[in-house]
Amino acid sequence: MDLFEYQARDLFEKHGVPVLAAAVATTADEAEAAATKIGGKVVVKAQVKVGGRGKAGGVKVAENPKDAREKAAAILGMDIKGHEVRIVMIAAAAPIEAEYYLAILLDRSNRTFLVMASVSGGMDIEEVAHTAPEKLAKIPVSAVDGISVAKAKEIIAAANFPSDVADQVADVLLKLWEVFQSEDATLVEVNPLVKTKDGKVIALDGKITLDDNAEFRQPDHEALVDHAATNALEAAAKAKNLNYVKLDGEVGIIGNGAGLVMSTLDVVAYAGTKHGGVRPANFLDIGGGASAQIMADGLSIILGDKDVKSVFVNVFGGITACDAVADGIVQALQLLGDKATKPIVVRLDGNNVKEGRAILAKAAHPLIEQADTMDGAADRAAELAAK
Ligand code: GDP
Ligand code: MN
Repeated sequence: MDLFEYQARDLFEKHGVPVLAAAVATTADEAEAAATKIGGKVVVKAQVKVGGRGKAGGVKVAENPKDAREKAAAILGMDIKGHEVRIVMIAAAAPIEAEYYLAILLDRSNRTFLVMASVSGGMDIEEVAHTAPEKLAKIPVSAVDGISVAKAKEIIAAANFPSDVADQVADVLLKLWEVFQSEDATLVEVNPLVKTKDGKVIALDGKITLDDNAEFRQPDHEALVDHAATNALEAAAKAKNLNYVKLDGEVGIIGNGAGLVMSTLDVVAYAGTKHGGVRPANFLDIGGGASAQIMADGLSIILGDKDVKSVFVNVFGGITACDAVADGIVQALQLLGDKATKPIVVRLDGNNVKEGRAILAKAAHPLIEQADTMDGAADRAAELAAK
């Protein structure tokens, strides 16, 4: 889960990373009140989970509360790269002397954590990484040792931080590591980390991605979920422990196992090119044990997606054999009754395939069609969706 900047700022504050006073607002009135409370110059910042917000006009300095009100009114409702601004953060403005960059992330390909650090931070860090990669130090951090004082010094030397800020930056690094580790993050990024005119080092912008796999031991993180942005069907699937992802095509996809589901997406997209460009509408992985109840839950979520014109159920029988899956489908359709309205193409293969196909043939449900092969089923599902 990606956090909003204000949520990242609050986690920074909780762990002692230096930040400035700030408050959130959803109206111009609230923005003015927040600016009054903070006092002096403030920065009005769009809260959207997308980069490049400053360049898109989502970060504005305001001279006084009235000005903050006007800037907030202009930013609220703005569209930044497809994200509507519903919240702004009002933060005390910092007199900036230098902008640095710090990030701790999970480097999956090298199976380690990684710190990236640069004294050329600010809005053009991507550009720096591209055109002057030597200005962006990359230092692996072992999961066992973490960031010690010695490691922080190594990072500071590698990135050439000036000596007058070295101690403060080291302290920030240790605290960011604490955020990263104790909050179960996969990314903690500060850009810019600034040196102010009076020599203080402060985190002015923060980005945090939390590891959803750790949510069982992070009960406080539930409060950080942006329910307004969560798709209702995704929420329903999550409540039933199903992996459902919404896409923007027309063919609903159910499969067992992530690998099979991924390749099903590919064959449907390919088959769709012959049927006016229909594409997968979503996908749902029912996992290993496809009981009737799981199949019913899965089918009802897929059929609840108004974009779905046809459904492709692609199951390879393993431990849960095809006859059990077929029973599950038949019972699921009984449970759903007239809530099931879209044609369903089923391809069964693997363990007990004969028995499974016989069960579906015997049930002779008007919505169900069987196909022998994955490609054939994808083609038929795409054809039905194109009708
Ligand atoms: P981003 O574009 O989404 O990364 O937004 P940032 O919060 O990083 O802000 C973009 C830029 O706005 C920063 O790099 C700063 O140059 C500037 N900025 C942000 N906050 C302040 C502030 O308090 N004072 C000043 N003078 N500039 C700021
Ligand atoms: Mn930034």
